[in-house]
Amino acid sequence: MKEQKIQVTQSSLPSFEEYVEKIKGIWNSHWLTNMGPLHSEFEEALKEKLKIDNISLFTNGHLALELTLQAFDLTGEVITTPFTFASTTHAIVRNDLTPVFCDINPKDFTMDVNKIKQLITDKTTAIVPVHVYGNLCDVERIQEIADKHGLKVIYDAAHAFNVWYKGKSSASFGDASMFSFHATKVFNTIEGGAVAFKNPKFGEILYRLKNFGIKDAEHVAGVGSNAKMNEFQAAMGICNLKYLDNEIMKRKRIVEIYNNNLALVKGLQILSPQKDVKSNYAYYPIVINETIFGKDRNYVHRQLQEHGIFTRKYFYPLTNEYECYANNFEVQKTPVAQKIANQVLTLPLYAELEEKVAEEICGLIKAMKEE
Ligand SMILES: *Cc1c(COP(=O)(O)O)cnc(C)c1O
Repeated sequence: MKEQKIQVTQSSLPSFEEYVEKIKGIWNSHWLTNMGPLHSEFEEALKEKLKIDNISLFTNGHLALELTLQAFDLTGEVITTPFTFASTTHAIVRNDLTPVFCDINPKDFTMDVNKIKQLITDKTTAIVPVHVYGNLCDVERIQEIADKHGLKVIYDAAHAFNVWYKGKSSASFGDASMFSFHATKVFNTIEGGAVAFKNPKFGEILYRLKNFGIKDAEHVAGVGSNAKMNEFQAAMGICNLKYLDNEIMKRKRIVEIYNNNLALVKGLQILSPQKDVKSNYAYYPIVINETIFGKDRNYVHRQLQEHGIFTRKYFYPLTNEYECYANNFEVQKTPVAQKIANQVLTLPLYAELEEKVAEEICGLIKAMKEE
């Protein structure tokens, strides 16, 4: 046990031969980037997989989100959550918008829909909720509130690729949803991202924003950025997509081992499956209540590390606590998020994780309680 090092995640890869076969054509065409044939093939494959009509590929998830917010031409305030990765809040702030933080609910750690309304002002233009760990937000309530107040809804769906609710993929909710295909995600294109969107006209705006605002060879219509997905990334996506369902099944097997071992441990909260949601098992968080469990989150994190097991305090700190935002936000306004951030730990979870190792991790955690 001491010898091994178990990381919190391990990137999925197709076989070397399969990937090489897929990129071979590039040596004939010399078409490396700028919306080549693999880019188109990947876009089509994603639309089919997610059962949607509109998608735009990006070089990473963050720029996809940043440019999507820009494309909606938002102003003023945006209601969002601090229980997320740096990207969400940064994307809002880098668009000169003011994030207004809504607390999360203690059950699935997504935005608490009962606390959104009270944050809406005459400056509010959008809601940017985050699906976390493979859990979905209450997409129905959020849409209701948005419709009533004329707000856009842009999901950070980085954790929710291939998550389904009542037969619809996570890509079909809100005005747009951003996916990250970063190496550490359930599905990767090395680095990469995509935006699924409702209004087909939006595609052209996004296309320009990710390609310098260029309209045609002699016309630059907007102050765009550069965020194109290249052919090597698209090839990785096409290859990995074939194995996605199988990878998710393997993840589920590990999740079941964790559930069976940890559900009854007093002082540990694990995620309950959401009603009508088919998860992708992106992460396995446990929430450690020190008073009942006897040890705090940092202790468990350190102890596991001594056994070569690397867990992650994810999400900690909250984005409204970051030093770059010091004194900008009042952390005490999101007390549930604050509490969970101090107690949460995500355990190793990836398709190739051995069942035996998952059992061992559970054994180590249970032993800490009994010490
Ligand atoms: C990974 C992630 C992002 C950023 O995606 P990149 O592809 O790494 O740029 C944004 N939001 C959340 C919640 C993420 O987990």
